[in-house]
Amino acid sequence: MNICLFCKIISGEIPAKKLYEDDEMLAFYDIKPMAPVHFLVVPKKHINNLLELESSDSALIGRLFYKAQELAKELGCEEKGGRFIINAKKDGGQTIDHLHIHFLGGRALRPKLASWFMG
Ligand code: 5GP
Ligand code: ZN
Repeated sequence: MNICLFCKIISGEIPAKKLYEDDEMLAFYDIKPMAPVHFLVVPKKHINNLLELESSDSALIGRLFYKAQELAKELGCEEKGGRFIINAKKDGGQTIDHLHIHFLGGRALRPKLASWFMG
């Protein structure tokens, strides 16, 4: 039994507001948005975090980022931009141990990553 929350969202066991899905990734809105546009892009393959990437996953990461920027543009953030974030493990503030890219946009974010992420 897989107890990973994002694996449960991928399998449909837990609902999410989906933005995009194909055979290798899923994009959905963050349940607790920290900006007007805040979505996550996750691989369907369970990878704990960016520090546990296998070399065979490197192209997949590129495709996740490519989709993230496409979605950011579709959601109106092309001109003003936003922030693409991957938190890794405890010190990085990762709370869900399934690799995910955050995109935040739709408002000006604080320039210092740390101060923004601490709220
Ligand atoms: P992390 O802190 O691991 O980088 O980010 C995890 C993110 O997942 C958080 O921004 C949190 O709000 C989001 N999240 C946690 N549980 C759920 C959920 O059940 N559904 C959705 N859509 N997002 C979730
Ligand atoms: Zn998982």
